[in-house]
Amino acid sequence: MTFIDENNLHAILENTAKPPASAVAGILEKGRRLEGLSPEEAFLLINTADQDAGKAIVETASYIKNAIYGDRLVFFAPFYLSNYCVNDCDYCGFHASNKSPRKKLTMDEIREQVGFLIDMGHKRLLLELGEDPDNNSIDYLLEAIDAIYSVKSGKGEIRRVNVNIAATTVGNYKLLKSKGIGTYQLFQETYHRETYEAIHKGPKSSYERQLYAMNNAFEAGIDDVGLGALFGLYDWRFEVLALIAHARFLANTFGVGPHTISVPRFRPASTVEMLPTHPVSDDDFLKLIAILRIAVPYTGMIITTRERPEIREITFRTGITQASAASSTAPGGFGKKHSKESQQFELADKRSLDEIAVSVMNQGFTPSFCTACYRKSRTGNAFMDLAKPGDIKEFCQPNSILTLMEYLEDNASLESRTIGLDMIKKSLSEIDNAIIRKRTEERLERIKHGERDLYF
Ligand code: SAM
Ligand code: SF4
Repeated sequence: MTFIDENNLHAILENTAKPPASAVAGILEKGRRLEGLSPEEAFLLINTADQDAGKAIVETASYIKNAIYGDRLVFFAPFYLSNYCVNDCDYCGFHASNKSPRKKLTMDEIREQVGFLIDMGHKRLLLELGEDPDNNSIDYLLEAIDAIYSVKSGKGEIRRVNVNIAATTVGNYKLLKSKGIGTYQLFQETYHRETYEAIHKGPKSSYERQLYAMNNAFEAGIDDVGLGALFGLYDWRFEVLALIAHARFLANTFGVGPHTISVPRFRPASTVEMLPTHPVSDDDFLKLIAILRIAVPYTGMIITTRERPEIREITFRTGITQASAASSTAPGGFGKKHSKESQQFELADKRSLDEIAVSVMNQGFTPSFCTACYRKSRTGNAFMDLAKPGDIKEFCQPNSILTLMEYLEDNASLESRTIGLDMIKKSLSEIDNAIIRKRTEERLERIKHGERDLYF
């Protein structure tokens, strides 16, 4: 028995009686008070088929997104270091029984790839590796992190390295923490044990190892952790309830909930024959994002380039706070063409970072490359204490403006520079606090004169 009580989650799902409109309205009111929802409450939202209720769910999610995070959208790039892997996960192109040649980047290749990413304008990376104690040892990863932080290109550098690696020991998490990582991310893939055990072979096949990885990370002092489920493997409604249960477990046990939740949907991948047994429609996908936003208001939500641009754009309004952009899922994939075989899965948004920046600005969002919080030690509880009263916006808003200005100065196309400068003017006028507005204006001037990395 773990903190994911599958019987209880299934019992909630079996109650198919449609909830009365008054019950849904009550839950949405609670959502607007930013109190979060229990799995039982979230299920009433999942279970309503009423069109007006559907609209009210979306409106509530947008309200929460705006109240806590404002209009900023943080960009990052996944950075695949190695596709060696000893596990055979049925859904993944890196599965061990894929006999295509493997690739592990050398330190020189890592520095070269990081140069490409910095030149695009990226400041945040998410490291991705298969699990392989020999080829992808912890020492390799630690050396890679040092190499990444050491690169300077033009006026830019990578300022935050997040890590998505297989569940590991408290000792290894401590080593990662000592290298200055941002978030440690690991997806449960599916919280349904029977499905989990059927589709994983190798060390990852231990459901418990995956489920308790975050406990070990917290024990090692990492207090920014990212959860996720791979949607398509099992009933999405179950996964949503389980994600909420996991988030609540972390909050109750460690006093701080997850920093992020990711919502990857299954994508086709080379040599992967498995088809998702529970494909998630676009409508359900949009609904689940809105419901998670209401259920865990203080948790950032991440969408990747697995999703088509038009879906991503809707989710930016209803709950997503971070998006990957200009991704490659192949080690060494930036700056050159790579073979389909070396990719983990296929992408659905292949636009450049600049094209995505233009598109989101045209929709009224401020692209942000901010990495300030963890560098100012606003992680874990310190972050939540600011997020809960809605104060985190006081930092996010000016920091998004400052990092956008750096992007416009150093990386942007003429089109995005023109739109971006207008956006900065508008965003500045929306800073309510006159002192912060004045300090932001001063820092903008300093950036125009060549200074970098100014933040609140
Ligand atoms: N090897 C580590 C692990 O499994 O936790 C690192 C993460 S892996 C590179 C990143 C994530 O990609 C996996 O956790 C999985 O959810 C996702 N993924 C794998 N195959 C996928 C596919 N075909 N479509 C979409 N996402 C996929
Ligand atoms: Fe390996 Fe991770 Fe892919 Fe599984 S999901 S095969 S562990 S890289």
